[in-house]
Amino acid sequence: MSAKVPKNSYISEIFHESKMIINNLTIKGKPAAKPLILAGPCSAETREQTIETAKELASFGIEIFRAGIWKPRTKPGGFEGVGKAGLEWLREVREVTGMMTATEVANSKHVEMALNSGVDILWLGARTTANPFAVQEISDALSGTDITVLVKNPVNPDPELWLGAVERLLNSGITNIAAVHRGFSTYERGLFRNLPQWHIPIELKRRVPSLTVLCDPSHIGGRPELIYPISQQAMDMGFDGLMVETHINPSVALSDKDQQITPLALNSILKALIIRTSIDSSERLGELRREMDEIDERLLDLISKRMEISREIGRFKVEHNMPVLQPVRYDYLVSRRVAQARELMVNEDFIRVVLEAIHEESVRQQLEVFGKEEKVKE
Ligand code: PEP
Ligand code: MN
Repeated sequence: MSAKVPKNSYISEIFHESKMIINNLTIKGKPAAKPLILAGPCSAETREQTIETAKELASFGIEIFRAGIWKPRTKPGGFEGVGKAGLEWLREVREVTGMMTATEVANSKHVEMALNSGVDILWLGARTTANPFAVQEISDALSGTDITVLVKNPVNPDPELWLGAVERLLNSGITNIAAVHRGFSTYERGLFRNLPQWHIPIELKRRVPSLTVLCDPSHIGGRPELIYPISQQAMDMGFDGLMVETHINPSVALSDKDQQITPLALNSILKALIIRTSIDSSERLGELRREMDEIDERLLDLISKRMEISREIGRFKVEHNMPVLQPVRYDYLVSRRVAQARELMVNEDFIRVVLEAIHEESVRQQLEVFGKEEKVKE
């Protein structure tokens, strides 16, 4: 069989799979919810704003409260977070609402303070993920703990840098890791605040299939009206959850004022989302596989029938003293089927390979018939 089949680049890439082994995500020893939802203000600003936002989110069933207390700002002079005082408010959120809490850490001091005050989930911001020194320092500080860590994508679209941060954490013994797609910085101002590049988190998932991947529609969209469509797209693409900035009174927020939504608005968005759970998709997958099995069964049945006809032709050829190989007939057969393949948008080279294999087996069967007949004649 000599037909040239173009090499499938996807298949050859599979051999470059990552060696990273990541368990399914757990938080405080329990499997993470699907979809996993984190919500809360960009920043904890005051005790009241923090507790009130958390209470309202909890009333809608949100279980994980996010709030930044050390804020990386692009320019100096802005609100840089309340710092350590916010840890006390997060502790109160846990006590009053029973929610789990999450905050951003950018260095080993943040890690130490957050761990000491009992924060449940830490995340690495986009600017931190882009800095291997900072990621290493944080990974070292986390060593020996079993805390859950979320890794936002780096500001630049570099899957290696993103995976590199995950790998540094893994090397420090942290196994509860999830990645968060929050979009990538661009010079041009377009529809999005940070351009989503969906193929990058998808590439991460392809390389490390067990990695939990979340989406942050707030930092991608930068505007309330984009949160729903981006979230739906993320769900449709099989993301495992969302992190959404939510403020009790967005219009007076001290950071990321233009993208935060109220807990009520978040609740409406979550209710409207069509969430395709993995159970649904595995049912659908099962259905498709059953259909495929049926087609394979029919294919085999047809091939067996075809071979039976081939043997019949073999007997005819023996009777009429005809040779097994009839090149003109074979050329005719191939050209008709290749034309049909073209019409059906099936790869022509592939069909040539299939026909050649079938023909080879047909000839073998006929030669067998010839052998038997000759023996009978002897
Ligand atoms: C944030 O989540 O508030 C934040 C600062 O995000 P990012 O690191 O994605 O900019
Ligand atoms: Mn923010």
